Amino acid sequence: MSQAPDDADARRAVKPVICYPTETLPVPDMALYAAARAGAEKVAEILVPAREAASFRVGAGQFFRITCVDGPQVGDLNLWNAHDLSERFYSGKTRALHGTHLSTGDRMWSSFPYLRPMATIIADTLEWYGADPYGGRVHDVIGTRCDPYTGNLLAGTQYHHCCHSNLTRALADDLGSSLAEAEPLVHDVLNVFMCTGFTRETGQYFMKASPVRPGDYLEFFAEIDLLGALSACPGGDCSSEHSSDKAACYPLMVEVFTPAPGALAGWQSPPPNGYDRSHGRRAVS
Ligand SMILES: [Zn+2]
Repeated sequence: MSQAPDDADARRAVKPVICYPTETLPVPDMALYAAARAGAEKVAEILVPAREAASFRVGAGQFFRITCVDGPQVGDLNLWNAHDLSERFYSGKTRALHGTHLSTGDRMWSSFPYLRPMATIIADTLEWYGADPYGGRVHDVIGTRCDPYTGNLLAGTQYHHCCHSNLTRALADDLGSSLAEAEPLVHDVLNVFMCTGFTRETGQYFMKASPVRPGDYLEFFAEIDLLGALSACPGGDCSSEHSSDKAACYPLMVEVFTPAPGALAGWQSPPPNGYDRSHGRRAVS
């Protein structure tokens, strides 16, 4: 145990400041999105089987909805720029901007050097959950994705239906590439429907049974052309364990909707970040 200074209590009492005040973030026009969604038509439907993943494509200006269909199930979502897979969802920066869990009005931001909104959440039927007495909330950007390497590290297992492997197979199938090519493109996820937090005493990442019920959904507006992949986590509702076939698992549904022509008048797909990338040396021409 380290030696506390005399003014330890005073130091602990210093008030925190928000790292990234978001007042200057570009504000999504939620009213425009809602109006466009109201007149939108369904154009695709993808069923993600239990303990598997599936890919899907959503054009800029389209909507996609992830629905719990048969039973409580958590989903691990990856997003890429459909034309440049080096631009992918950046979980850490999204967390720094919006907090540990996402809901309506929050955005999924892309990796450097792009750092722009990839998708905006426009509806969340689990918004009622808020924060529970344990500090648990829904739809986290703190977990990574369940993977076979951590299972092997902790328990010596060889389990092949973790979200990381499911996403790797789904992406390889979509691209017609090898697993070795696809795997490095898989990244930390948005944990759709997952209920998580950190324990107050030890700061450890915890999960608990998701409050999701069949019919619940999370819906997004695609800000750029997207390739997505969604894994129906082997943890099921994540009430007990993942990285095995023990939990009850269910499929998830992805639906894509196209707005009526002209419904997004005035909206523009966001450009990549405006930083000049000179990093303190001569400007890039
Ligand atoms: Zn998982």
